[in-house]
Parts: sequence; structure tokens; C-alpha cells
Amino acid sequence: MSDLNFSCTQCGKCCHDLRLPLTRPEAIAWLQRGGTVEVLCEAVPWVAEPAASDAPAMHKRQRSFPACSGELPIRVIVVLAASFKGACPHLGRDMQCGIYDNRPHVCRIYPAEVSPFRSVLPSHKQCPPEAWTSPTPFVRNNQVVDAQTQLHVSLLRHGDQLDVAAKAWLCIALDIQSAGLSNEGFMAHCPSPEALHSVLQQTPPVATDRSPRRQWSMVTNQATTFDALCLVSAKPVYARALADGPSHYLGFRPDAPPREQPA
Ligand code: SF4
Repeated sequence: MSDLNFSCTQCGKCCHDLRLPLTRPEAIAWLQRGGTVEVLCEAVPWVAEPAASDAPAMHKRQRSFPACSGELPIRVIVVLAASFKGACPHLGRDMQCGIYDNRPHVCRIYPAEVSPFRSVLPSHKQCPPEAWTSPTPFVRNNQVVDAQTQLHVSLLRHGDQLDVAAKAWLCIALDIQSAGLSNEGFMAHCPSPEALHSVLQQTPPVATDRSPRRQWSMVTNQATTFDALCLVSAKPVYARALADGPSHYLGFRPDAPPREQPA
């Protein structure tokens, strides 16, 4: 996942909207417990294949499927995310996790990062000092060294890659075809729990290199991005022009619409 701050309520950050990235089996289980799961979509312009040595680009490639926005080739990254306002619905009055033995990987790895390109900096986390050293050191040189956490981080990353075909199929089945520009924002799609649960359990048809690439809109709240996407014949949409409905835009920056033209 890129720049959304996914935080664990076990740390006391329970008072605002939170989203927890889930693997597909975790999303099915979360829905079965009555929770809400959103489908977060971001698009990466993909005009040429990266070199194998370009680790960040290869990481994005493994987590995404190919598509188009107008004439612009893109890759779409889809994240299934549990979402809730306030405290996690599984946090009990005793401040204990009600599904502790079955809690998602992302809860098990906190304060480690899902992204392999982010350092784990204690100064950026809310864990008490002793959490970093007891009973054994958690990080060394800003890298996680705790073996259990490393295992869950790799399971989460592996699941992210395994789920790509299912997520591409999910977008077709639920008619999802808009995404934010990577590193600028996401489109958060909120299908009905029943529809999402049903599609997540289906086996996706096998895609081939000849499978047609679907058309996607790229949503932005930045006038400069909108103009740049027009220049490359993509299909941009202003976030503020979106109709009310079960989808909304999550931007990382404040709205920057075009300036009013002088009369
Ligand atoms: S599932 Fe449990 S560990 Fe995860 S956020 Fe909810 S209360 Fe915290």
C-alpha cells in the first residue's frame, strides 16, 4: 500500500477513520463477522516495462494488473481494506482484541510496514520505548528483525501478489473502473457486503495476454494532474465532479481545482 496511514487501534489511535489492508481470505472473514470492506484502487501510468533492477517498480508490477485509461497504459493496484469509524469493531471494552487469535496479518505486524521500501522508525510510531526492545530487539538499523513479524510481513506481501487475478475479476464483476493516481490518492469503492462477499469467493477466470484491457477513469483533485492526464489522452475525472454514491475519493493533498478564469 502506498501513503495511506493504516494504524492499529491496539495503539490507542482509535478516534478517526481507519483502514486495515486485508488479504482476500481475511476480507471474506471480516465480512462474515459483519464488518465493512472497501475496495481501494490506485492507477500507475505504465508506458514502458521497468528494468528488473528497478525494485520499487517491480514491486508495483507484481501487485497490479494491466489496464488502460484512454490511450494511456496503466496498471491498477487494488487493496481490500477493512474500514470503520472510531475504534475497531473488534476492540472490546477491556481494550483487548476480540478476535486476537484470528486477527489480520496487518494487526500482527504493527509497527512494521507492509511496504518493503519504508523504514520502521520508532519516532514515527506510538509504541512505548520498551516495545522496541522487549523481550528481544524488534528493529535493527530501521529494519524489522523480529522473526514472527517478518513471517507475517512476508505472508501479507505474498497474499497481495496471489490475490491480483481475483481483484481484477472483482473489479469486472462489480463494475469498478475508477482509480486515483498512485501516490496522490485512492478511489474507495464500497459495494454491498453481500455482493463483495459473493465475488470474493468466486474463482476468477484465467486471464491471458490477449485478454482485452479494461478502460479506467483516473480521478484526481489536482488541476495540474488533470491537465497532465489530458495531455497524454488519458481519461481524468475531477474528484469534485463525482456523483454521490457508494464510491468516494481519498486524496493525500487538499483540493487544488483549476483557477477561475477572469471574466
Ligand atoms: S482486529 Fe484486533 S488487533 Fe486488529 S485493529 Fe481490531 S482490535 Fe486491533
